[in-house]
Amino acid sequence: MKNEASLREQNLFCTMRNHNITLHRMNISQCDVPEVSVSHSSLEVHEGDNAVVTCNGSGSPLPDVDWTVSHLHSISTHQTNVNWTNVHSINLTLVNVSGEDNGSNVTCIAENVVGMTKTTVSLNIYYPPRILSLREPVVHLEHCIEFTVRGNPYPVLTWYHNDQPLRPVDFIRQEVYKQDTSMEGCLLFNKPTHYYNGNYTLIARNKFGIANQTVYAHFLEQPYPGELTYFPLADLGISPTPPISVTHKPEEDTFGVSIAVGLAAFACVLLVVLFIVINKYGRRSKFGMKGPVAVISGEEDSASPLHHINHGITTPNSLDAGPDTVVIGMTRIPVIENPQYFRQGHNCHKPDTYVQYIKKRDIILKRELGEGAFGKVFLAECYNLSPTKDKMLVAVKALKDPTMAARKDFQREAELLTNLQHDHIVKFYGVCGDGDPLIMVFEYMKHGDLNKFLRAHGPDAMILVDGQPRQTKGDLGLSQMLHIAIQIASGMVYLASQHFVHRDLATRNCLVGANLLVKIGDFGMSRDVYSTDYYRVGGHTMLPIRWMPPESIMYRKFTTESDVWSFGVILWEIFTYGKQPWFQLSNTEVIECITQGRVLERPRVVPKEIYDIMLGCWQREPQLRLNIKEIYKILQALGKASPIYLDILG
Ligand code: AMP
Repeated sequence: MKNEASLREQNLFCTMRNHNITLHRMNISQCDVPEVSVSHSSLEVHEGDNAVVTCNGSGSPLPDVDWTVSHLHSISTHQTNVNWTNVHSINLTLVNVSGEDNGSNVTCIAENVVGMTKTTVSLNIYYPPRILSLREPVVHLEHCIEFTVRGNPYPVLTWYHNDQPLRPVDFIRQEVYKQDTSMEGCLLFNKPTHYYNGNYTLIARNKFGIANQTVYAHFLEQPYPGELTYFPLADLGISPTPPISVTHKPEEDTFGVSIAVGLAAFACVLLVVLFIVINKYGRRSKFGMKGPVAVISGEEDSASPLHHINHGITTPNSLDAGPDTVVIGMTRIPVIENPQYFRQGHNCHKPDTYVQYIKKRDIILKRELGEGAFGKVFLAECYNLSPTKDKMLVAVKALKDPTMAARKDFQREAELLTNLQHDHIVKFYGVCGDGDPLIMVFEYMKHGDLNKFLRAHGPDAMILVDGQPRQTKGDLGLSQMLHIAIQIASGMVYLASQHFVHRDLATRNCLVGANLLVKIGDFGMSRDVYSTDYYRVGGHTMLPIRWMPPESIMYRKFTTESDVWSFGVILWEIFTYGKQPWFQLSNTEVIECITQGRVLERPRVVPKEIYDIMLGCWQREPQLRLNIKEIYKILQALGKASPIYLDILG
């Protein structure tokens, strides 16, 4: 008896003439639970093919054997019975197998009066990919194009946008959940703009075939019809001086020639006057904003705050053009001042500032530290600078092409810098004006610019040890990051108290000294190294759009509040170890994102409290933004929290 053990367990017995005989000791014939076996435990078959699987049932009494196939999709099955003496066999023929049944089981059951036994065969059906659905984007937490794909083996998925392969930077990631035989997933987008609108084609491929499907995705309206031209050349670029041409034909008589010469001379006089006007009030500043600050345009830029700053400044009006304009021919041309020299609301350029002059022979260059758009920066020794020290290390910046205009700029800038004195503004010692090149002398900050410093202390930083790249020892911790932020905020509180609008606050424009001392210190010379941080408009103008709020992008309105926006971006840079804001987007996409009200995402390591400050800096309405004093206080309070608390926050 085959299931003696189970009978023993059940403690069954038979009573015969007052005798109890336990059932498992009795010799009972014809009482076996059936046994079952199959020809394949798993059936591998290609879609469309036929396959046969055999099930054998044995036992006494001989069991009935049957396949259960009712749940199968589109398999027409065919069963054949073969009866042997003590084996009952049945063949199941699967005809025109469908991929839909991949992963299903068919079950063989053998049953007699004693009991029932069954076994299953799993179906592994190979078939080409099928895209069951591809839906227009939906927004859950992020924008997502949902899809469901099937295929065995699982297909490899690739995406095209308007027939171009989708670049990894165009989307955040593709999430796929594999469920039985299907793949459900989501193509996630990071703040898609109207550039992302268009046809998305999903191609699913495995070794048995390929499938594709396209869906149209509409994320955003194009904000402005036609091309995005936030900065029309005439409005923003370095002003094209109105072309004055004198045509001269060889056959013209001497009268014609003298008229032409006269006109040319007149034009020259006009140009000289214009040149003087620009130089006097509107040259490009090397401190802070690195764009042109003398903008001559054919249109009035009524939205520009620069006009407000202008009021009260009289442009030499020998041409009788009224304040802030010059006239050339019939055209009235507004001259927009460099606000750096006319601080917000104060107009307090101080002509009586005494800039310290340093003799060239007192400066001994040691090595190059870097190069910017306007010149090189050198480490140097400077003698007779400090009453207590014979010589000291300084950073000197040499002006590349000291034209007349550049010399005037230089003088103004030196005056301005002489007036800015604070623990977190890089110290300006003076100028060396005897001969070329023109040199400005600053305190030396031994770790260079903050952006480089952050990258060098982040997770991706590598150092060369014996010529081999090695991971650096440690990343900056949260409390160190906070310490950096507090110092910049402190420098900004000072700038705001001086009604000074920086307009180009970014980590690349801060410097790091010993003991993590951080100061704001840029003089507009770093453009070459960081040129991708700027957006070129109208030829020469470079704007740090990734650090600019909507009103600065759209109307070039730069205020203390727009500096606060930039400070939010600085925080983001600090807590991402120096990543470029919106690194995944092109300049025009960034302009679109910012003007449409999108803000940078929370960096992984940033505590919520600090991201809240960033959000406070990125309020669309300038007056709703946190002010820099508040920010400084909040950061200080956070800085006083124990490092452990900060780490937990992180
Ligand atoms: P800048 O043209 O001011 O951006 O300077 C170019 C590079 O020179 C910076 O990225 C710094 O690495 C370096 N540099 C500028 N100023 C200083 C300074 N005061 N001390 C040390 N390095 C400096």
